[in-house]
Amino acid sequence: MAIAKNSVGDLYNSITDNNRKYWDDFKATLTESTMKIYQSDILNYMVYIHKDITETIAVEFEKYIEFNLQQGINAKSINRKLSAVKSLIKFLVKQEKMNFNPLASIVKLDDTAEVNKIITLTWEQIQKAKTIPDQFKKNIFNCFYLKGLGHGETAEELGVSLKVLHYHTKGIGEFIGAPELKYQDIIETRNKYFSKCPECGKILETIENNWQFKDSRLLCKEC
Ligand SMILES: [Zn+2]
Repeated sequence: MAIAKNSVGDLYNSITDNNRKYWDDFKATLTESTMKIYQSDILNYMVYIHKDITETIAVEFEKYIEFNLQQGINAKSINRKLSAVKSLIKFLVKQEKMNFNPLASIVKLDDTAEVNKIITLTWEQIQKAKTIPDQFKKNIFNCFYLKGLGHGETAEELGVSLKVLHYHTKGIGEFIGAPELKYQDIIETRNKYFSKCPECGKILETIENNWQFKDSRLLCKEC
């Protein structure tokens, strides 16, 4: 499913009657220029959730962020979408159409160029991460680095929310002296330190315990 470049009119016609009413009421409180910035972001989200905005929950917006990232939408644009939808919800809370703002806990993505640059960890940092004392954190590292990440799973495929993913990634980063560590960095790091066995196709870390020479070929120990 791609984000179709629908006109504002098409979007408006695709949302629920209640959403049309909410948007119309909110729109009336905005200046012309703010309304123009907000309209497609808000209407697009309403089309995406396919139900009244008053019923939206945080995990839906997190999935929406993930979806936008997969479409190559940059952090700056995603943050703008988040601001627009949050503003509408604040308005609806004030109007007592909603009891609380379910998106209040969702934080903006870091959109500075420096932070979005992919870094790969050094071998020393990897070794340090393997010694994380707290069993819980260690398991998270095992999950993120040692297990399936070579295939670049999305948070959804891993079965964790973006919030949980970022929380643990940050925890690992802080422990190994890379406080800006992002999930994507772990995937890139894994790609750097893992290899595929040419015989069985298994993907294993490139350490002595996992590999052997057999008939002068480098194969995994199980082949
Ligand atoms: Zn093998």
